[in-house]
Amino acid sequence: AEVPVAGPVDHALTAAMLRLEENEGELGRLDAVAADGDHGLGMTRGIRAAVAAARDAEQAGDGVSQALLAAGTAFADAAGGASGALYGVLLAEVGAGLRGVEAEDITPTALADAVDGAVRAFADLGGARPGDKTMLDAIEPFRARLRARANGADALAGHVEAAACWAEAAERAVRAARATAHLTPARGRAARLADRSKGHPDPGATSFALVVGAVAEAAQR
Ligand code: ADP
Ligand code: MG
Ligand code: MG
Repeated sequence: AEVPVAGPVDHALTAAMLRLEENEGELGRLDAVAADGDHGLGMTRGIRAAVAAARDAEQAGDGVSQALLAAGTAFADAAGGASGALYGVLLAEVGAGLRGVEAEDITPTALADAVDGAVRAFADLGGARPGDKTMLDAIEPFRARLRARANGADALAGHVEAAACWAEAAERAVRAARATAHLTPARGRAARLADRSKGHPDPGATSFALVVGAVAEAAQR
């Protein structure tokens, strides 16, 4: 029997899964600094379910959009917690934004448009403001850098250029996640023990940087 080639969403999310599995303990420790310590476990549960759902969808012939919608729903259901619902919305809304677009036809602009829409939905659901020391403090710099890069990119360059834009945005997210160490939490569980979190990066911002970094590397292969 032939081994099926992974679809593009399966490929990208599998890379994220491996990265999150490597960092499960570290994400848990970060979350335990001022909250309940379950962020690593929540992320690995969520991403495993998301990969399985994307794989099923792509093997059934679904495109990128449908596979991401399925992955987002599965992530939210399996991960639980504040971040589970928020990551679920991000995945599903990137999928909604890519409706009708084939993987090879994802231009920088199409990708930036989809991410803009997903971040709007994320912000509406979570209600966090920039500087509240949440995932948003890595997500918004990522979104803005992707948008700026896409605006300067060759609109016709297609998915290779889109991957390069994503990689630059992912580097921005890594720096932004590290910089959350200087912020004081105003949202989520950590807000109650805000002083304890001083000097430590936000767990959700850290996991977001890991995810987009792993996807950037997967897109180059
Ligand atoms: P829980 O807090 O339910 O245990 P997790 O530990 O998985 O969930 O996730 C915690 C992370 O979720 C935080 O580090 C933060 O980045 C993110 N988060 C929590 N609440 C919000 C919110 N309202 N908006 C944006 N991000 C949030
Ligand atoms: Mg937690
Ligand atoms: Mg929890």
